[in-house]
Amino acid sequence: MAETDLLSRARATRVVVIGGGIAGLVAARECARVGFTVTLLEASDALGGQIAAAHLDGVRVDAVADSYAPGVQGLVDELDLGDRVVPLADRAVWISGLPGAAPVPAQALAGIPANAWADDVRRIIGWGGAWRAYLDRLRPPLTIGRQKNLGTLVRSRLGARVLDRLVTPLTRGVYGVDPSQVDADAAVPGLSTALTRLGSLSGAVADLLVDAPDTTRRSLRGGMSVLVDALAVDLAALAVDLRVGAPADRLERDGEAWRVHVAGDEPLPADVVIVATPRTAALALLDAAGAPVAADDPAVPAPADVVTLLVASRDLDAAPRGGAVYPVSAQAASVLHADAAWPWLAEALGGGRHLLRVRLPRPDAAASAPDDDAVIALALAEASAALGVALPPGALHAAHRVVVEPAAPASVLGHADTVAAVRRSVARTPGLAVVGAWLGGAGIASTVADAIAEADRVRHRVLWANDSGPDVKPPAL
Ligand SMILES: Cc1cc2nc3c(=O)[nH]c(=O)nc-3n(C[C@H](O)[C@H](O)[C@H](O)COP(=O)(O)OP(=O)(O)OC[C@H]3O[C@@H](n4cnc5c(N)ncnc54)[C@H](O)[C@@H]3O)c2cc1C
Repeated sequence: MAETDLLSRARATRVVVIGGGIAGLVAARECARVGFTVTLLEASDALGGQIAAAHLDGVRVDAVADSYAPGVQGLVDELDLGDRVVPLADRAVWISGLPGAAPVPAQALAGIPANAWADDVRRIIGWGGAWRAYLDRLRPPLTIGRQKNLGTLVRSRLGARVLDRLVTPLTRGVYGVDPSQVDADAAVPGLSTALTRLGSLSGAVADLLVDAPDTTRRSLRGGMSVLVDALAVDLAALAVDLRVGAPADRLERDGEAWRVHVAGDEPLPADVVIVATPRTAALALLDAAGAPVAADDPAVPAPADVVTLLVASRDLDAAPRGGAVYPVSAQAASVLHADAAWPWLAEALGGGRHLLRVRLPRPDAAASAPDDDAVIALALAEASAALGVALPPGALHAAHRVVVEPAAPASVLGHADTVAAVRRSVARTPGLAVVGAWLGGAGIASTVADAIAEADRVRHRVLWANDSGPDVKPPAL
């Protein structure tokens, strides 16, 4: 097909993206770059989804996600944000509620220690825990087999202390899931092979640490919302019609096309609809569109309150518990001391003021939501316990609370099968695609990569009527 025909076919294709989180923004961008006519609908009054901002005491701060993994660097560079990039401060991550608190051992992967006798490991698991973990080194390699379940693997090789005091707080705090729901080899790539080769789990970790890829997180001066702002500018330049406060209610077939119903507005015609909402909204939209998917996800993290607290406390000036604390058996899954992790934020806040972010899972999602004051008071108490400093109500200057629907990480057991089943079902309905962290896996990096790949499939289907297209890429406009 001639290039001009491709361009006019692209321009005549109306794409509606539902959801203005990072998945929707990136999918919209990929479609607009080849000339599709794109409208993006965001239900709330701001773009970004879980890359959300709050204004506390005159400072714009991150309210949920606050950093990105190396996989996002390409997008950051494309958006010309290189001069905004800031590295994570070299602060330890701590575990609290041991009793007491201690930094996460330096030589560990996903909390699995390379050496049970190391001082920083023994401080957490005690002598008894270290002796039990040492059995891992003595067990014959033949008994290892291929245990996929991270929880079972760690408990059987290294004992309950390592599981409960190291691996569980990190898995729960970072991803909102239990180690028993996690695929060990997906969480720590190469673990099974190294374990089989070396005969012990801690030996495998020690081996993998030698060449461990750099996973150091970065952020942007001004917070991760700077990425969303830059994407919005880029999308506007690509003539994407960005609509906030526009929740899509329902999708309806209209011959070969779609009508997207938006609360209080005229239905929008579309040739292609890309659903980019969290899981619950996506399943409802697909169901109503006559494209129901069987998404029996093995592990869906509980919804969570994420509370950002601006406090005045000189006791926090020296960052007594580093940049992040993951408690053992507490209501909070994590307490982040954000300005200790990100020096730009410390500068913006000025001395004596500190920004804490507390993640409170809400396992009983059906129960009526507690009011803001109760949740904020709980967050303050949990932060005080995790950080080991008194934070009386008078220390609180400002607070922000948001309820999020977290996605499971791509490393949960069965995730790949679930995603494949969802994508197979959706592919049966022409002009429909689904993106978002619930499929790509929690985290901006995996969500972006998945959205780019899925938008690419959409482009090929529209322009060449297949999933992979010819060898040449469509011309970028
Ligand atoms: C507490 C927490 C901290 C995190 N921290 C980090 C971090 O530091 N770094 C990192 O890489 N990842 C982090 N993540 C994960 C990461 O933020 C998410 O995986 C990612 O941002 C999800 O993007 P998304 O576009 O799939 O979904 P979302 O961000 O949830 O966006 C979906 C959008 O769809 C909109 N929507 C819903 N229904 C409709 C509808 N009917 N019509 C129109 N719009 C609709 C929503 O309003 C929302 O804006 C964190 C997650 C949590 C929960």
